[in-house]
Amino acid sequence: MIGDDYDPGATGTPTSCTEPLPCLFCGAPEFVEIHEIWGHEFMLQTCCEGLHQQIVQDMDDDPVWARALLRRLKIEPLTGQRLRRVVDDGCVGMILDWQLQLGSASAGQVRRFIARHHAHCGIPTAWRFHRAVFNGRTLMGVAIVGNPVARALSGRGIVEVNRLCIRRDTPAALRWNAASMLYGWCAQEAERRGFQKIITYTRIDEPGTTLVASGWLKEAKIRGRGWHSTRRPRSNANGWIDKIRWSRALHPRSHSEPPPRRSETSCEASMLTGWTTVGSVFGFTPA
Ligand SMILES: [Zn+2]
Repeated sequence: MIGDDYDPGATGTPTSCTEPLPCLFCGAPEFVEIHEIWGHEFMLQTCCEGLHQQIVQDMDDDPVWARALLRRLKIEPLTGQRLRRVVDDGCVGMILDWQLQLGSASAGQVRRFIARHHAHCGIPTAWRFHRAVFNGRTLMGVAIVGNPVARALSGRGIVEVNRLCIRRDTPAALRWNAASMLYGWCAQEAERRGFQKIITYTRIDEPGTTLVASGWLKEAKIRGRGWHSTRRPRSNANGWIDKIRWSRALHPRSHSEPPPRRSETSCEASMLTGWTTVGSVFGFTPA
């Protein structure tokens, strides 16, 4: 049990109270403040070990209270970040889940990120535009948008989310909503640039929940290539799996960037061509 002066809703901060209550554990004036913050971890400083253990226990039991307490202790002005939640990551304990923010990243950063976290799909050599999403200062994911890899779809005012990559090596809580923020941004940016439609693909065994929630529609089923073939090595595992093509209609107000002509083939070097242009295709004529 923590003294009433730690009620996060109370006015004034515990550390600024002129007459703090005596600590139930050590009898000295109750004291708690943020001692250190690094990335998604933090350390509290208290008047005594007893109070520290009690606060940690209470934070674990009630994450909403935990967030309110850290806000009372000025964690947001201290870090310049907005705190989304405090969550137990099941390993180091309570971690700071910051409000996600879209931000910029260099093409080199994007390539390195995909190479590290999405290597099975290969790294495209060129694309039109991209965006990154951050949790605090942690780069959580990237999305890149380019011309449709299936040549039958190019030259029609369509762009494609060629890659959307969210890292999986951090606690799951940190990536909550990251994919839908990126999908939302891709559609918005494509619309702003004058495109009529945006598409993307998922493996048939992926539920596509994020896309459905973001207003995308299932458009076609694309059969993975070459189950029968014995000549090609399985260098790209994804090429062998059926895909779903998703789309979202856009309503551009102006055409600030004209739709690509068929001759613009900057994305043809993408590793995805394996399954989009060679395989049997339902819903449209293969290139
Ligand atoms: Zn104490």
